[in-house]
Amino acid sequence: QSKEQGRNQFSRYNRASHSRNGADLALETALRQALDNDEFHVVYQPQFQARTGELHGVEALLRWNHPTLGPISPTTFIPIAEQMGVIGELGRWVLQHACRQAVSWREQGLHNITMAVNVSVQQFYGTVDLAEQIRTILVDKGLASDRLEIEITESLFMQNIDEMRANLQRIRDLGVKISLDDFGTGFSSLSYLRQLPFDTIKLDRSFVSDINQGREGNTLAITIINMAQNLHKKCVAEGVETEEQLNLLRDAGCDYIQGYLLGKPMDADDILSLSQQRRAKAS
Ligand code: C2E
Ligand code: MG
Ligand code: MG
Ligand code: MG
Repeated sequence: QSKEQGRNQFSRYNRASHSRNGADLALETALRQALDNDEFHVVYQPQFQARTGELHGVEALLRWNHPTLGPISPTTFIPIAEQMGVIGELGRWVLQHACRQAVSWREQGLHNITMAVNVSVQQFYGTVDLAEQIRTILVDKGLASDRLEIEITESLFMQNIDEMRANLQRIRDLGVKISLDDFGTGFSSLSYLRQLPFDTIKLDRSFVSDINQGREGNTLAITIINMAQNLHKKCVAEGVETEEQLNLLRDAGCDYIQGYLLGKPMDADDILSLSQQRRAKAS
């Protein structure tokens, strides 16, 4: 019954999307060709241990470089891909690509890296079973399941909370970690916290940029980090741009740091040299 509900929500969403404007339609046409034409690539943003500065993992971020329009932001094309119903295909491509990259790094001596991949909630409502798809990709590529983490952003589609919980649990049962992305920005983050199985909270960039902009800003970031600790979840801060933010987050007990201060999204080879530089510095 709840599966039915999920589909209804999905088709309602599709219907609503019929009011798209011309620019979106042009992008939609371009997007249809982009997968076939190999216009996508993935960049990786490093995540560091807050206390040791060690490389902990990376977040895979999708990039689209259109031959004439140039680079198009995922904040623009992901929602269109969702509306078009091609996010399943695109999401699968990213998962395959990222898992293959993690194995390639391992073969080049970069071990124990966590690969975090963004997954759209709509990937749960497609015709393929996402947990099964992930399991197949892990086996295919030869990646240990505990090296993969999926990042989920709160969305209206999560209203189907029982179904979402079951879906996430099946992925978690594989040994894959689950991260709640952009934590604190949605409607019901706190209630999801209670109802959904996950391992990591990603403190949204907006809380990080509030740091040292007045007392309350600090309080919110610190409170969310404390809450994560009390719930025995890991906490990642995203969008860390200054030393001040880094210091406060680390002192508050945030586990991992991601942001332009320590590393922008970069090509796979640059992650490799970054890790080698760090190792050289440490020895
Ligand atoms: P997100 O998952 O919250 O990813 C973090 C975004 O913040 C990335 O933007 C990253 O480049 C940016 N960022 C990281 N550090 C900083 C910083 O210090 N300052 C600032 N100002 N920004 C920072 P990006 O790559 O443009 O991605 C935007 C969003 O698009 C992502 O937000 C995610 O929701 C979505 N996205 C990206 N790749 C994928 C994908 O493969 N699948 C899905 N479903 N969504 C994706
Ligand atoms: Mg993310
Ligand atoms: Mg995020
Ligand atoms: Mg965010």
